[in-house]
Amino acid sequence: MRIANLSGRLVIVDGGRALDVEKASAGRFSSNPQAVYDDWNEFLGWAGEQDASTGAEFDTHDLGPAVPRPAQVFAIGLNYASHAGESGLDVPENPMVFTKFVSSFTGADVDVELTGDTVDWEVELVVVIGEGGRDIAEEDAWSHVAGLTIGQDISDRTVQFWGNPAQFSIGKSLKGFAPIGPAVVTIDEVDSSADRADLAIGCTITHVDGTTEVLQAGRTRDMIFSIPVLVAKLSSLVELLPGDVIFTGTPDGVGLGRTPRVYLKAGETVTSEIESLGSIRQRFVAPVAE
Ligand code: ZN
Repeated sequence: MRIANLSGRLVIVDGGRALDVEKASAGRFSSNPQAVYDDWNEFLGWAGEQDASTGAEFDTHDLGPAVPRPAQVFAIGLNYASHAGESGLDVPENPMVFTKFVSSFTGADVDVELTGDTVDWEVELVVVIGEGGRDIAEEDAWSHVAGLTIGQDISDRTVQFWGNPAQFSIGKSLKGFAPIGPAVVTIDEVDSSADRADLAIGCTITHVDGTTEVLQAGRTRDMIFSIPVLVAKLSSLVELLPGDVIFTGTPDGVGLGRTPRVYLKAGETVTSEIESLGSIRQRFVAPVAE
């Protein structure tokens, strides 16, 4: 099942159609796309009996962040050896954790204003927590995952590296710097014949002249800390809450890791894709005067 945030309302998505959950459930479930994780198992039971192909057609521009206001946002730095290498940084012994403040969250098919000339891309698999908890064992971790979605961990490298130590959280939380979506895909829908954490992940840029170029192409099995390890390690330190999200890090191919370095320019579009989860698309534009 795929659930999404359509103009601020929780929907179940089937192809190009969306079923409004509050209306279809006659008010049993809230229209708030964040509240569903508080009643996750009850919702799954009800939603499994719905036919979203009877829903209305929708425009992807109306998709808001699939998880709009998580209580906690975890982001993992340097979780692929290939990316640590290109960044000139050591592979960490423990997960390197920062946050993306929720005011940076945005939808799946939107414009993002460039904040300067060092704005960079990082496609990431995003884990959404269903039932929370402390001290979750690795072998129980998947039962605490509601689903998976796609995120872009957009970064202003100048702000990120303002000082020493670097300031990952603020440099990655500028306006529109956390697109997530298009939908949260429940784990039963991710190819169950393969390891659930082995998905093709990548992103492609369309330049101003219309040419395209693959920026990143990896597999999520190359994560240093797998999803079960991350859930176990994080929950050994802090309580995970329903609807929390974890950005799980990016493979190599970011602009910072290139020689010379390459950053986003106004008029370019980045399309980020993960196998079984769909794609999101961000057009980068010059700052809009307010
Ligand atoms: Zn990242």
